[in-house]
Amino acid sequence: MAPVRLDLTARLCEELGLFAREGVEVVSARPASDELLLRVHEQDYVRAVQAASADPRVAEAVFGLGTEDDPAFPGMHEAAARIVGASVDLGLALLRGEAAHGVNFCGGMHHAKPGCASGFCVYNDAAVAMRAMLDAGAERVAYVDLDVHHGDGTEAVFWDDPRVLTISVHESGTTLFPGTGYADELGGPDALGSAVNLALPAGVRDGDWLRAVHAVVPQLVRAFAPDVLVTQHGCDTHALDPLGHFAVSVDAQRAVARSMHELAHEAAGGRWLALGGGGYEVVDVVPRTWAHLVAEASRQPLEPATPVPPGWRRYVEELTGRPGPASMTDGGSATWTGWESGYDPDAAVDRAVLATRRAAFPLHGLDPEFD
Ligand SMILES: [Zn+2]
Ligand SMILES: [Zn+2]
Repeated sequence: MAPVRLDLTARLCEELGLFAREGVEVVSARPASDELLLRVHEQDYVRAVQAASADPRVAEAVFGLGTEDDPAFPGMHEAAARIVGASVDLGLALLRGEAAHGVNFCGGMHHAKPGCASGFCVYNDAAVAMRAMLDAGAERVAYVDLDVHHGDGTEAVFWDDPRVLTISVHESGTTLFPGTGYADELGGPDALGSAVNLALPAGVRDGDWLRAVHAVVPQLVRAFAPDVLVTQHGCDTHALDPLGHFAVSVDAQRAVARSMHELAHEAAGGRWLALGGGGYEVVDVVPRTWAHLVAEASRQPLEPATPVPPGWRRYVEELTGRPGPASMTDGGSATWTGWESGYDPDAAVDRAVLATRRAAFPLHGLDPEFD
């Protein structure tokens, strides 16, 4: 989670000219107010973060602070609250019609819970942004979590809230943190079906990942008909990621960003808030994936074969001793076979997809076999 991942991403966007495109505006953000944070987070927890932020020695492990995953550091409250402020501002701008799409690749802190930090996440910007959009008049918000880890924190916030559909596609909890996110986890009694989980086996490659995402996400989001689509683009699904065990390429992640953009237009009035998330291969993977995401949101996707600008590679070489990737592609075809081709009972990915469809689709009036 070293901030260099964001620095390298922003510099790559800059060098590719994405921030200078017509219709693209780069805006700064202020830290979210305590009042806003408290719409999702508990007062004791926010106070504990503020105390640890002022003096890291007082970090309390009971709140997940000062742990190996969430070490305390000076200014951590402001830094985490600023990420929230950015996602909230973008979400509200979408609702007001001031922007069609918003990207905050610093955001997507999906493990943060109301009362504790978890999995490198302090405040849950996605959850606070969605709560702020509901407060501002949105009736339904859909959230799609593409990170290799289960989006447990975001799901927990809206577990029993029928106004928010959370869909998480991730590596099974049997092999990866946080160990949750199975097909039978569907939301609370007042909101059954509002949480959807697709737990895929370790080792998933492009074709299977794309098939799985497209066999579950578009159908449910269309049926839910949200006012806004929020997507979390954690890129720890990549083959080079040191934490996850998927083998997805930058090309497949680019294809999913395209699909989410199209889905926002089809099902959410075009209102699309795209967030970052996990991603721990900070040179070869994170900057390229999220630069593609920014390009997609600016309505002009980058050709996969686009060369990586030499200025960025020089900077990376000075920083790390190696120049980084030469082009914006991993050479993947990013093609997949659609679910309508039929279900293969011998394929573990298909069995996982069918389990999720059988659990969740009927709760949304969909047919698990044919929709
Ligand atoms: Zn992750
Ligand atoms: Zn668009």
